[in-house]
Amino acid sequence: MITQSVGLDQFRSSWPNDPGYEELLVIRAHHSGEMIELPVARIRGAKPGPCLTVMSGMHAGEYSGILAAQQLISAVDPMELSGTLVVIPVISTRAFMERNMQLSPVDQKEVHFIRPGNSDGTYSDLLVDTLFELVKHSDYLIDSHAGEMAQALMPWVPIPIQGSGDLSERSLSLARGFGVKYIEPRSDEASIPPFCLALLEAGIPNIWVECGKNGVPTKKDTATHFEGYIAAMQTLGMVDGDPARPHQQVLKGRRSQINATISGVWHPAVREGEIVQSGQYLGRMTDYFGNTLEEFHARHRSIVLYYWSSPAINACRRPHGYDWHSGLVSLLDLE
Ligand SMILES: [Zn+2]
Repeated sequence: MITQSVGLDQFRSSWPNDPGYEELLVIRAHHSGEMIELPVARIRGAKPGPCLTVMSGMHAGEYSGILAAQQLISAVDPMELSGTLVVIPVISTRAFMERNMQLSPVDQKEVHFIRPGNSDGTYSDLLVDTLFELVKHSDYLIDSHAGEMAQALMPWVPIPIQGSGDLSERSLSLARGFGVKYIEPRSDEASIPPFCLALLEAGIPNIWVECGKNGVPTKKDTATHFEGYIAAMQTLGMVDGDPARPHQQVLKGRRSQINATISGVWHPAVREGEIVQSGQYLGRMTDYFGNTLEEFHARHRSIVLYYWSSPAINACRRPHGYDWHSGLVSLLDLE
C-alpha cells in the first residue's frame, strides 16, 4: 500500500464510491511554515451504512488508543463492512515524534480545548481546524485517550451530552460496548472539551475513551479500546455480530481538580479509581529536601479519575492559562 499525500480539497473530492482501502497523509501548511501532517485510513465498505471515525493520539503520549487504532485498520475487511470507516491513528504527529506530553511542542496549546474554525490562528488552531474538516461528515465519532507518562488514570468513558435526547442516546450507544467499569454522561458544558461540543453542534454523536495510564500501552488497555471499537461498529450494523455489553456503572458528578500553588516535589496518597471521602488526605508537596510545603485534602466525596504520578510539579508553568503542570489530583465530585 502506497501512502498518498493529499491536501484538504483533494481529501474531500476523492471520497470513494467503490469498496476499498486507502492510506492518506493529509498535508496543510501553517503560515509559519510548519506543516500539519495527519495520517488517515479510509475504508469504504461493500454495503451501505454509516460513516464512523475512530481517532487517537490527540495527546501524543497516550499510546494504547494509537495501537488499537492501528489494529482496527488491519482488522476491517472492506468486503465485510457496511458503510465507511475512517481511522486517524495519530492526530498530534509533531508531538508524537517529539515525545511531547499533552501540550503541542509548537505553541504549547492543549488541542482538546481548542474550537475548530480558526485556520488563521496558531499551529494547534490549524491542526484542530484541519481535524474537524476531516471528520465533520462522520455520522459517529470515537476519540481514544489514555493517561500520559505523568498521569495514573482510571479507565472510563466520558460521554458529552448537549442538544437533543436522540443525539445523547446515540452517543451513549457508542460507549456501551467498552469494557470499563464506569461511563460518565457529562452535561456540564464548561467541563466538555470544545472539540466535542463542536462535534455535537454538527450533529455528530461522539464519545472520548480514557483507558491506559503512564504512557504504557499494555495489551489489556489496547484491547479495551479495540474491542470497544468493534462493539460500536456492531451496534451501528457496520460489521456482523452481537455487540458486547459489559457491566458498566454510570458516574454522575462534577469535575474538580486539586492544583499545587507552590512548585516542588509531589507525594500522592491516593490511587486512580479510589473513592475518597470529604476531608480525606490526598497527598503533600515538599521542597527538594522533603520539607512539607502544603498538604491536600478532598473537599467532597469524590472519585479519583486520575492523579499526577510524576513527583515534579511546576506551579508556575501555565501556558495559555492551562493548569496541567500544576495538577495533582483530578476528581469527579460525586452527587
Ligand atoms: Zn488525552
